[in-house]
Amino acid sequence: MSDEPQFPPIPSIGEILDRKKQMVEAKFSVVKCKSCGAKKERPFQEGDYVFKKLSEENCDSCKKADIFIAEIFSEWKMPGKK
Ligand SMILES: [Zn+2]
Repeated sequence: MSDEPQFPPIPSIGEILDRKKQMVEAKFSVVKCKSCGAKKERPFQEGDYVFKKLSEENCDSCKKADIFIAEIFSEWKMPGKK
């Protein structure tokens, strides 16, 4: 039933997991204007989803309120050392 490969415990895997725990996920939304096609990235906001219309925001280029979310992506980043 279970043919999953068993990975032997290697010390370096533990190190990678520790590093991942320290990383923070930064999410971004790519918004695109339907009128002029201008794209921009902004930090993900609660409630964002792909193809959501952003009627309360205006395009930076043509100033029309005709923009929508074209893409959402995330990046893992190491927080800056203090
Ligand atoms: Zn535009």
